[in-house]
Amino acid sequence: MICAVVRTETSEQAVSAMAEAKRLGADLCELRIDYLRNPDLPKILSAKPLPVLATVRPKWEGGQFDGDESVRFGLLEDACLHGADYVDVEFRAYKDLKLRDAKLIVSYHDFEKTPEDLEATALKMASLEPLFVKVACQPRGIADLARLVRLQKTFPSPIAVIAMGEVGEPLRVLYARYGGRLTFASIQAGQESAPGQLSVEDLVRLYQAKTIDDETEVYGVVGDPVAHSKSPVVFNDVFKHLGMNARYVRFKVDDPAALPALVREMDLRGFSVTIPHKQAVAGLVDEADDIVRGVGAANTVSVKDGRLIGANTDLPGAMEAIQDAAVRKWSHGIYGMRALVLGAGGVSRAIAWGLKREAARVVIANRSFERGKALAEELGVDFVRWESLADARAQIIVNGTSVGMTPKTDESPVDASLFKKDMVVMDTVYTPRSTKFLKDARAAGALGIDGVEMFLRQANHQFRIWRGRPIPTEILKEFSQRL
Ligand code: NAP
Repeated sequence: MICAVVRTETSEQAVSAMAEAKRLGADLCELRIDYLRNPDLPKILSAKPLPVLATVRPKWEGGQFDGDESVRFGLLEDACLHGADYVDVEFRAYKDLKLRDAKLIVSYHDFEKTPEDLEATALKMASLEPLFVKVACQPRGIADLARLVRLQKTFPSPIAVIAMGEVGEPLRVLYARYGGRLTFASIQAGQESAPGQLSVEDLVRLYQAKTIDDETEVYGVVGDPVAHSKSPVVFNDVFKHLGMNARYVRFKVDDPAALPALVREMDLRGFSVTIPHKQAVAGLVDEADDIVRGVGAANTVSVKDGRLIGANTDLPGAMEAIQDAAVRKWSHGIYGMRALVLGAGGVSRAIAWGLKREAARVVIANRSFERGKALAEELGVDFVRWESLADARAQIIVNGTSVGMTPKTDESPVDASLFKKDMVVMDTVYTPRSTKFLKDARAAGALGIDGVEMFLRQANHQFRIWRGRPIPTEILKEFSQRL
């Protein structure tokens, strides 16, 4: 069930918020009585369009209520009297209430961490025999997230495990996949009652959360940051279009070494890898294709019989986009052309390797001199200093740095004077689509290729690896216009 959190100051606003929650597709509302200034519970509860969970969260458990405990429990009993369907009582302050027809949920919150004794605490909570236990904790990394998923999957009685913060997002989306009873969501962005809460709209539309079940196949993107990734929009749409019971979520990953355990716990079928983990993941997969071995970076992992198989689709995605543009610009491909690759991270490494394989004359430049030089030596290509990019005398320039990415959209890694008319210029950054780097290049008359072109091509290769078929052309065309 998707539970929309109603946290308004007035009773009138609470009534409208409940109606909005229903319109958006929520299944129930949590009425946060602690946010209301003068709660008119008969008025609110007589207008409820959905079942209501009544909560008066005290300050000491992360809420707004600062008064006497007897007043707090009085409000909860009033809510039960006037028709609340569920009532939330904090484990730390548990006492018997006149519940009338309402069902009890016993809750526990830790906004700082995932405590060592969480499993034992949850068992003590379950011994109170509530309808279900709710525990909401802050995972400090993916090892904690894996632990919270395990608790959700293995707990002997009904439980809703909420993982807070950006790291916890996958469990907020996929709760039903692992046996969870409900997830909490905001009615509007900015109205969250806890860190990392998604909106009802995102859960219903983007993630189709209401149809997730224990057979849903799980994919995702692994990185840090991951919030900018367009992959969830693309893959969830493709799964929906093709009627596949699969979802794609974002994993903010601090420590890639903990990934194999998370993959096992969440039964992941595959994942994309983004900044800054492509090289680390190349080192931890059980098998790797030729490109991953040559490039030393993996952006795609599929899981087969518990083994992690690494691939690199950035390379074919980028190479196809550059080749197409080169043919359009010069009516021949990139063979023999001088290509300057800016950056020495995962993407630059793959593109430089691919350009060399296509017999372009590759030159690398990187902000950090040593890293760039080391990559050039490793790949056996030329190197220029960041201060002397014109020395590369490039006909093709590729931005493989993250400069220009949202929110710093007024930045470009190079001076506009570097661009000439007879050039093909590609930016790998795709948020925004039209970067300052590309605008400068196009203003000089160069043929610009944006990051979305590369992104959609690499996503298509990724989908083929995971599902054995390409993304239908009409969907790719639609995304090419929409992104
Ligand atoms: P990465 O491994 O973290 O490498 C980042 C690179 O950017 C490094 O070379 C770094 O230089 C350079 N850099 C960062 N800030 C800089 C600055 N202020 N000035 C100059 N150079 C700077 O990242 P990655 O995985 O290669 O990804 C790079 C970009 O490609 C990202 O923007 C990502 O969104 C984009 N991307 C696009 C697609 C697509 O399909 N379009 C696919 C994958 C990635 P130092 O070595 O000096 O730190």
